[in-house]
Amino acid sequence: MNYPEHFIIGFILGIALSFYFHFSIPNILLWGAITGMAALLPDIDHPKSKGTQLLNMFVFVICLFLSISYFTNIFYIAGSTIILYILYILLYTLFKPRHRGITHSFFALGVITVISLFYLKFPYLLFIPLGYLSHLFADGVLKVI
Ligand SMILES: [Zn+2]
Repeated sequence: MNYPEHFIIGFILGIALSFYFHFSIPNILLWGAITGMAALLPDIDHPKSKGTQLLNMFVFVICLFLSISYFTNIFYIAGSTIILYILYILLYTLFKPRHRGITHSFFALGVITVISLFYLKFPYLLFIPLGYLSHLFADGVLKVI
């Protein structure tokens, strides 16, 4: 399945979940889009996928967000952001998984869920795992690891 289908499935599920929690219209669209983008994440194991392109665009911002959540000193934030970014590049280059490998597993879904639990509050923590899970079902790849 290609990225538009994955995004649309995630978007629709995100909108449905937003309606369930009675979000405002802008929040419904926002969390629908976030869920749609989360549905692209499992394909980061493919270098030309939209998920990889999106991750490469936002990885520095994600590293900055993670650093800001731990440190208050600007030098620690800058250093931590750069170190996390270099780690991402090293890990992605050295341990690049095969396509539809570990990123298409319930193990990866568990990792994403734990990260969501750590950074988001209920009910927002449900959206990214929901998008990720929708990708696994849409691809028909339901394996543990
Ligand atoms: Zn996939």
